[in-house]
Amino acid sequence: MGEIEYKSETREEWEERASKSFEVRLEQDFLFLSGPCPRCGDHMLYRQPLIGWAGIERMTQEETQSFWERVKAEGAEKAWHILDSLFPSGVGQIMTKRSFTMFCTCTVHHDKTPEGKKGCGAYWALTATGR
Ligand SMILES: [Zn+2]
Ligand SMILES: [Zn+2]
Repeated sequence: MGEIEYKSETREEWEERASKSFEVRLEQDFLFLSGPCPRCGDHMLYRQPLIGWAGIERMTQEETQSFWERVKAEGAEKAWHILDSLFPSGVGQIMTKRSFTMFCTCTVHHDKTPEGKKGCGAYWALTATGR
């Protein structure tokens, strides 16, 4: 897909597309998301530190594990719903950050890629919803 030129842009539908097509994997303190970039279609891997989701560190290791196992099974877009069901008393309330920005990290060289950049320039939000 090298014919797509690098361009820093985002589109609303990419968020939805990515939340459906990306596979989520938990490894140590990182969330790995892999799948096709919604803009260029190249396979990419994105690494998100869990610490970026404020509040996660307040859970015990066991709680964190069961939470992410359910996220993996049910999909990242259900993360907030899962949290609520695991913690009816409202641990979810203390988590203030519900989304993070992902950007294309594909290794294909796209035309007009600026020095030091990678991917095709696409970025989008991955938001946990479902309350
Ligand atoms: Zn690409
Ligand atoms: Zn891309």
